Amino acid sequence: MSIESPHQPVTGGPSLPQERRLVTEIPGPRSREMFARKQAAVPPGIGTTLPVFVTHAGGGVVVDADGNSLIDFGSGIAVTTVGNAAPRVVERVQKQVADFTHTCFMVTPYESYVEVCEKLNRLTPGDHDKRSFLVNSGAEAVENAVKVARHATGRQAVVVFDHGYHGRTLLTMTLTAKNMPYKHRFGPYAPEVYRMPMAYPFRWPTGPENCAEEAAAQAIDAITKQIGAENVAAIVIEPIQGEGGFIEPAKGFLPRLLEFAKANGIVFIADEVQTGFARTGHLFACEDEGIVPDIICTAKGIAGGLPLAAVTGRAELLDAVHVGGLGGTYGGNPLACEAALAVLDTIEADNLVERARRIGDIMLPRLRSMAERFDVIGDVRGRGAMIAIELVTPGTKEPNAAVTGEVAKRCHAEGLVVLTAGTYGNVLRFLPPLAISDELLEEGLSILEKALSSV
Ligand SMILES: *Cc1c(COP(=O)(O)O)cnc(C)c1O
Repeated sequence: MSIESPHQPVTGGPSLPQERRLVTEIPGPRSREMFARKQAAVPPGIGTTLPVFVTHAGGGVVVDADGNSLIDFGSGIAVTTVGNAAPRVVERVQKQVADFTHTCFMVTPYESYVEVCEKLNRLTPGDHDKRSFLVNSGAEAVENAVKVARHATGRQAVVVFDHGYHGRTLLTMTLTAKNMPYKHRFGPYAPEVYRMPMAYPFRWPTGPENCAEEAAAQAIDAITKQIGAENVAAIVIEPIQGEGGFIEPAKGFLPRLLEFAKANGIVFIADEVQTGFARTGHLFACEDEGIVPDIICTAKGIAGGLPLAAVTGRAELLDAVHVGGLGGTYGGNPLACEAALAVLDTIEADNLVERARRIGDIMLPRLRSMAERFDVIGDVRGRGAMIAIELVTPGTKEPNAAVTGEVAKRCHAEGLVVLTAGTYGNVLRFLPPLAISDELLEEGLSILEKALSSV
């Protein structure tokens, strides 16, 4: 770390100095001043993980209004996967913003929307005939996937899982498992949503080796006996749960669910909003076990920070909906489509799927060696650049949210942006941009290590 006078970069992106640099305490005086304004102007329901106000970001750093440069292990929650202000994104969006900013694709269409859909149809798992349409947010994608599944099957029930997160709209909040903060006092919830056990290896009562088979058997039994498989429109699941704490379902669980869905005419919806676009060391996390979902929902990493999301699925399902039954004013905005095309180019040109694997190969061994030394770490898990540690009371599996919060706070104070997650608030999750350097990655891990040894 170098200590210098506040440095004011001209632009963000990868040309920002790739270094951690603390010139004030975190947050500094300018950020504190803006945070006071935020508290007066914005309701507390909109929370803040780390109250530094950002002026620039790129590569593996976020620069704040006081001139501090922080290491980014969050990517704005898995969004700036290709890096912040990534050059191809900037270039294409700048050109587009000068050409036209909006027409509404449902009024007078434009080519970039179609091109994004063509690419999604080609790149998502499975070589069957597909269709895609574009919306604004992950929640909107999941909600639309359920609309399509219900319409196409003529059925109503939707099956979701413990620890699942699917968004904050009425339907997706209902699909989400965790009460606080997502659901508390926001009811009544949407009807016909049924929750099943998740194959959560670390916490499976009879041990991780039995987890996949037993969890699948329980889910299938409950679906069959309590709902009736013929009443189920869709099974909605994240191939690695995000907000729930980066829970990788035990191997075999997803294939068994998919097989059951297929046998019973149930639409299998993969919510890849957080796991998609090279994040996990595959273009899509479903690829890890060869899962070919009927519908896949994507968002977050799709457009480098511009608001975009997509529903991609079997042509016969998506084509079932009547003309005009799907859409929205802003869905597939031309700026966001240009950004998505730039993201896909960047993933390919910079070999980012491979880069995500390499990031996992750097992080996992270091975290596992920390787990040997710090018995507060109960589990190390994840794939590619989607890695987490679950913290417990030493010698037990009791969730340790207090220590998790304290470690996060100490990382923040040292200039490392980390996020927490988990139903019990006891998971530290790491989502570095794939544009981060090995040096910053290692430095970030050292900060984490120091924070763990100090609690
Ligand atoms: C973030 C997230 C959503 C919701 O996306 P928004 O864009 O915030 O609406 C849905 N599903 C998963 C798995 C997510 O991580």
